[in-house]
Amino acid sequence: MGKRTLILTLKMDREIIMLVCAVLLAGSLIIALMPDSAGVGVCAMGRHILSGFSVAIDPGHGGIDGGAHDNRGLMEKDINLDVSLKLKRYLEGMNARVIMTRERDTSLEDKSDLNSSRYRKDLDARKDIINRSNADVFVSIHVNASPGYPATRGAIVFYDPASEYGKLLAGRIARSIDSIVYKDYLKSDTLKTKVRCDDYYILRETKVTGVIVELGFLTNQHDKALLQDKRFKERISSAIAEGIALYLTSY
Ligand SMILES: [Zn+2]
Repeated sequence: MGKRTLILTLKMDREIIMLVCAVLLAGSLIIALMPDSAGVGVCAMGRHILSGFSVAIDPGHGGIDGGAHDNRGLMEKDINLDVSLKLKRYLEGMNARVIMTRERDTSLEDKSDLNSSRYRKDLDARKDIINRSNADVFVSIHVNASPGYPATRGAIVFYDPASEYGKLLAGRIARSIDSIVYKDYLKSDTLKTKVRCDDYYILRETKVTGVIVELGFLTNQHDKALLQDKRFKERISSAIAEGIALYLTSY
């Protein structure tokens, strides 16, 4: 074994050890996040894993701004808030401090001094809450729509092109959704969460490492049914919480 091979082998060993640690941690968190009959995470093991950490959650849209919708009363803003409140509970179950940009059905433009459109003022207020939160990470929760492409489905996690840590956080959350939601819950080996970088205001203008999680497509019949299913929303919330926990305890 040459020096180069040895270094490579040592590096691989370290990576394998890190992977094993990540799998063990993931396993303990899955147990920790298994809902009991009341749907609340129970297990002393993972209970304090996020002590000292804080997470900001931004449920997209709200109030006058429904976001994506199906013309029959199903609105993105309500799904975003529902999943965000579940996510809050999971993170608090791990002892994280959680800051919400909104906890009810409201838009935030009144909280911005910006002389701009209602849409831009709303985003500006969310940015301010996140920047003032002193959170370690933030996650913005949304639902996608792609009219004209009903076959398009699945979660997408977006990070800012300039954020190396955003990319790592996105990867952790995506892998967590793949294993907890797609593989374990939906028994699918083909569904995979996409990780993409794009230039979004909320990612670019915030000082906190963050990602946007698009939970699925309202324009796809399978995703649409899942996005109205309490158990799916419980699972995807726990998966996002676990991805955040894996990121925070790794970097
Ligand atoms: Zn949205």
